[in-house]
Amino acid sequence: MIKIPYEEIILKINEKTGMMAGEIEDRIDKKLKQLSGLISKEGAAHIVANELGVKIFEPLSGRLQIKNIISGMRDVETVGKVLQVYEIREFSSENRSGKVASMLIGDETGTIRVVLWGSQADLTANIAQGFIVKVLGGYVRENNGRKEIHLNDRSQLLINPKGEVVKEVVEVASGRRKEIKELKENDIDIELLGTIVQAFDIKFYEVCPRCAKRAKPSSDLFVCNEHGNVIPSYSYVMNAVLDDGTETIRCVFFRNQVEKLLSMSQEQLMKFRSEPAEFEAVKNNLLGTIIKVIGRANNNPMFNRLEFVAQNVDPNPNPEEELKRVQGN
Ligand SMILES: [Zn+2]
Repeated sequence: MIKIPYEEIILKINEKTGMMAGEIEDRIDKKLKQLSGLISKEGAAHIVANELGVKIFEPLSGRLQIKNIISGMRDVETVGKVLQVYEIREFSSENRSGKVASMLIGDETGTIRVVLWGSQADLTANIAQGFIVKVLGGYVRENNGRKEIHLNDRSQLLINPKGEVVKEVVEVASGRRKEIKELKENDIDIELLGTIVQAFDIKFYEVCPRCAKRAKPSSDLFVCNEHGNVIPSYSYVMNAVLDDGTETIRCVFFRNQVEKLLSMSQEQLMKFRSEPAEFEAVKNNLLGTIIKVIGRANNNPMFNRLEFVAQNVDPNPNPEEELKRVQGN
């Protein structure tokens, strides 16, 4: 069953008929009373939309923008830019074993997680941040209140298809807010708000220019597991300690999250590779800055401590919004 939120149905009726929201809700209330107790509010809204000739379900053919993807949909086609690729996991239970991988993609309207099962999971080995992917024949599920596009053996994933572009990705801040002291291992899509109390040096490392995965030094050259000998490009990682008044945690920022955190371009950051001393001032500047970070809590086995891996950073959270949130609690 495709779930469309009540508010969206009202919006759609308003869009198509010009009726005011209050008027639409009156009609829905009447319908609810008429059918006393037999239907839900959403059900009544669907009936009212029908009576007014408003189609709530758009035909599902053709490409959908990410914001229009609704849980329960089948045969979904969408195009997005890859924001993050997660590692392939093997699993086995009593009656099933296999592989699953996932990635986060985004377009001009939002972001969504794509979950790849079985042979589809292997495709992620050749996908890196910034690639464009086209999904065909996906189905949409809800997981912890979040939509995901799932791909199975009958679905298709096209990597960097010709002629497909995604201009600017809108990353809708969507994490559940938690306090640092509440964080648990494997918490995903969590939002933290805190002050940077310590910042560490930026570290550079070699990556394969084709797949952006780590390239390992070998005698006098660099090797990618997938692509053999390569002339490496560079990526970077930076750590900072965040304090939200309940506890502190070390946050790890990779690549474009470093760029966001410091509001600097790749070009600017690469200069610190040859001039590391100049990074001191940047670090000092960061201290005391309040940021919002969305990410996941991982256990770092080397130190046996929780770390927070950033997947999105807002270096300038809106103070009014934050105040409202506090007062609302
Ligand atoms: Zn490679």
